[in-house]
Amino acid sequence: MDFNDSPEEAAFRKEVRTFLDQHARLRQSSEESAYDGADDPVAIAKRWQKTLADHGWACLSWPKTYGGRDASPIEQVIWNQEVKRYVTPDGLFIIGQGMCAPTLMAYATEEQKAEHLPRIASGEEVWCQLFSEPVAGSDLAGIKTRAVKEGDEWVVNGQKVWTSGAHYSDWGLLITRTDPGVPKHKGLTMFFLDMKSPGVEVRPIKQINGNSDFNEVYFTDVRIPDSQRLGKPGEGWKVALVTLMNERLAVGSGLSNTMMDVFRAAQKTDLDDEPAIRNQAVRDRLADWYTREMGLKYTTYRMITALSRGQDPGPEASISKVVVGANNNESASYALDLQDMGGILDDDELSGFGNQFLRQFMRSPANRIEGGSDEILRNIIAERVLGMPPDIRPDKNVPFNEVPSGKG
Ligand SMILES: Cc1cc2nc3c(=O)[nH]c(=O)nc-3n(C[C@H](O)[C@H](O)[C@H](O)COP(=O)(O)OP(=O)(O)OC[C@H]3O[C@@H](n4cnc5c(N)ncnc54)[C@H](O)[C@@H]3O)c2cc1C
Repeated sequence: MDFNDSPEEAAFRKEVRTFLDQHARLRQSSEESAYDGADDPVAIAKRWQKTLADHGWACLSWPKTYGGRDASPIEQVIWNQEVKRYVTPDGLFIIGQGMCAPTLMAYATEEQKAEHLPRIASGEEVWCQLFSEPVAGSDLAGIKTRAVKEGDEWVVNGQKVWTSGAHYSDWGLLITRTDPGVPKHKGLTMFFLDMKSPGVEVRPIKQINGNSDFNEVYFTDVRIPDSQRLGKPGEGWKVALVTLMNERLAVGSGLSNTMMDVFRAAQKTDLDDEPAIRNQAVRDRLADWYTREMGLKYTTYRMITALSRGQDPGPEASISKVVVGANNNESASYALDLQDMGGILDDDELSGFGNQFLRQFMRSPANRIEGGSDEILRNIIAERVLGMPPDIRPDKNVPFNEVPSGKG
C-alpha cells in the first residue's frame, strides 16, 4: 500500500481540516475532553452530532439517503485520523451508529431504514445494545431472555445487564431466546424496540468511580410488534454476528493510543537524578511498547488496504483491540509507577500529568472486556487467523433446555 495521500485524498483531508478548524478546538493533550465540567454530556454530544449532520460530515461511509456522505473507506480513515487531533464529544453514538445501524442496514425493511438511520446519523435517536445477561456475556448464545409469539406481537420477559447508555437511549437492539428446544445458537431471534415501551425498566449500575455508564434492564411482559423482528425467527445469531463484527471494529478504532504520552511522562519525570527516559530499564519498556505499536500500525494499514479493495477486514480486526487494550493498561500502570507515590494521587491539580494515567489505568480493564474480552479475542485469533484447534464446546448440538445450568 502507498502510505502517502493521492491528490484526491490530500484535497479531501484539506476539506476535513477546514471544517474541523471552523467547528472544533485543536487538541493540546490526549486527556482533554469536550465533556470536562459538563452538566449534560448527552446534550453536548447531540449538538455536535447535529452540526456534523448539518454540514454533511455525519456517518461518512453511509449512503447519502440514510444521512451519510457515500464516502470511501479511505476517506473514512482520513476523517478518523484528523478528528482525533481535535477535542470533540465522542463516544455517545458508537453503539447506535457503529453497531445497531449496520445491523439495521443488513436486516431492516426499507421503511424502517428510512425512518431510523437518518435520525441515528443526526444524533436525534440514541440506541443501545441489549445483549449481555448475568449468565451470558462471552457465551452470548447462552442468553435466557424469552420472547413468545402472541398474534402479531412477541411478549418478552427477562433481564439484560451492562447495557451502556440504556438510561438515555430511545431504541434498543434486543436478542432473545424464542426456541429453548434447539441448540443454543439456533433458538435466538433479534428485535429492536422502543425503550419507552411498557414493561421496560432501566436500573443504573453505580460504578466504583461514581459514574453510572451502564445499566440493568428488566423486561416484564414487554410487547414488541413482529414487524420489529430483524431476520427470521431462530436466525438471531446470524444477525448478532453482524453487530458483533462491527462492535470489534468500532470499539478497537475508538480506543485512543496514548503511547506518546508515556514517552513524554518519561522525559518529564526524574529517576535517579536524571530524566527517566535516560534509564536503560525504562528505555527497554518503552521500546517494547513502541515495537508493538508499529506492528499494530501496519496491521491496521493491512486492514485499510483490504477495505479499499472492497474486501472484508476479517477476524484480524480482533488484533488491534487486544493490542491497544493491553498497551493502554500496561503503559498507564508503568507511568504511575514512574511517578512513585505521586502516582496514587487522585487529584487533577496535585497529581502529575493532570491525573491522566490514573484515569487511563482505571478505565483500561473495561477496554479489555467490552466488545469481547482479551481471552475471547485470542481464541478468535487462534482459531480463525492462525488455524489452531477450536475451543472445547461441550454444549454444541445439545438442545438449550437440556444444557445443565444454574437458576440465573
Ligand atoms: C465498559 C463496558 C460496556 C459494556 N457495554 C455493553 C452493552 O452496551 N451491551 C451489552 O450487551 N453488553 C455490554 N457489556 C458487556 C460485555 O459484552 C461483557 O462484559 C463481555 O462480553 C464479557 O462477558 P461477562 O462480563 O459475562 O464475562 P464472562 O463471560 O463471565 O467472562 C469472565 C472471564 O472468563 C473468561 N472467559 C469466558 N469464556 C472463556 C473462554 N471460552 N475461554 C477463555 N476465557 C474465557 C473471560 O475472558 C473473562 O476473563 C459491556 C462491558 C463493559 C466492560
